[in-house]
Amino acid sequence: MARSTVARRAAQMVRKDSKGGFPKQQQSPPGSTEAMKPVPDHGEETWVGHDRLAGLKALITGGDSGIGRAVAIAYAREGADVAIGYLPDEQADAEATAALVEEAGRSAVLVPGDLVERETCEQVVKDAAEGLGGLNILVNNAGYHWAKGKEGLAGLDPVEVDRVIRTNLYATIWLSKAALRHLRKGDCIINTSSVQAYDPSTQLIDYAATKAAINNLTVSLAEDLGPRGIRVNAVAPGPIWTPLQPATRPNSKIETFGADTPLGRAGQPAELAGAYVFLASPEEASFVSGTIVGVTGGRGVF
Ligand code: NAD
Ligand code: MG
Repeated sequence: MARSTVARRAAQMVRKDSKGGFPKQQQSPPGSTEAMKPVPDHGEETWVGHDRLAGLKALITGGDSGIGRAVAIAYAREGADVAIGYLPDEQADAEATAALVEEAGRSAVLVPGDLVERETCEQVVKDAAEGLGGLNILVNNAGYHWAKGKEGLAGLDPVEVDRVIRTNLYATIWLSKAALRHLRKGDCIINTSSVQAYDPSTQLIDYAATKAAINNLTVSLAEDLGPRGIRVNAVAPGPIWTPLQPATRPNSKIETFGADTPLGRAGQPAELAGAYVFLASPEEASFVSGTIVGVTGGRGVF
């Protein structure tokens, strides 16, 4: 199946529902892939590798599902071995992603752990590097938001805010710091930002702030690590159909999810993989560092 089929299929999915979103459905965090209707497209049938990451070793946090699963499939088919970070509750999704990596003929290493704690971030990097026999690419992709509560500042729940900031911002810092022990000249870090960094919503005040901070961190780490030959970039997704959505957004937002983008639909995880492969590729992105690539369905990232 041609790669463009992913976008065509996603567009067809939208036309079935005039509001441009998805059928009503709710899950509890962290959410599971199998329970989603429809199950997202991670590029299982479409991604064709061209050895763009041959012999490299990557840790993808949140690699069990959604964007992380799509990146894991693409990286493996491009010739990389992949360590998959995930929450212990996500064993089934993590094993499904690992099977897809192995089907591509590459090694998969499972590194469960709740990244809200610094010590766990350090352990996950250590376990990944040991399991893979080194580390060339760190994809900071694990992320969390909570949009089922009351909107605005007054509605912020301290427990959720703490989880959002620890997962999105602290973990990105601690994982990157731990990875420094392993990364060498030509290696890279790829962070996961969001369109929310540029166009924040009052339903995601804390989350949007962490993503703006990740953009800033991406620029300063590129400056800091450039002299070592390590590149640091980020991808800023727009609305993407992943377990995070039914797990953390109310049905009113699921039914219209992605409809307000210029392209009129949410993206599929498979549509993100190209940006992560490009940024990881030592040849194609050899002079690319300190930048944020938007994959937003038309929303500006500036
Ligand atoms: P997802 O639910 O498939 O993946 C998020 C993953 O984060 C989970 O699978 C889980 O393994 C991991 N995670 C969450 N909290 C964790 C914790 N405390 N410890 C360890 N792992 C934890 O959803 P996704 O949409 O693919 O999310 C991937 C990234 O993309 C996130 O950083 C998210 O903020 C970002 N993003 C998503 C969208 C979207 O619309 N889906 C838009 C912009 C940015
Ligand atoms: Mg998951």
